[in-house]
Amino acid sequence: MPGAQVKEEQFRPGDKVPQSGIYRIEHDKHRMMHHATLTGGTRFPRCKQCGDAVRFVSVRASRGMVLPFRETDILEEYPPQGGLKVVAG
Ligand SMILES: [Zn+2]
Repeated sequence: MPGAQVKEEQFRPGDKVPQSGIYRIEHDKHRMMHHATLTGGTRFPRCKQCGDAVRFVSVRASRGMVLPFRETDILEEYPPQGGLKVVAG
């Protein structure tokens, strides 16, 4: 079959950002999709409202310096994983 549709790779919060660039951010209904610049090597952020339901699609890679997301106040850094804190009573 001719590839009429380009398959878009979606990323989820906590996934590693493959490369710096512009990403389209699709929320779970509560907000229109928007775009943000993310830095390669970091983790995709979560949404304060829909949490892990948000999806990221790479739109365009960018070279050189990338400013971290800023106007996307709705996003928050993905919490670090692996170091489970044991709270002793
Ligand atoms: Zn959201």
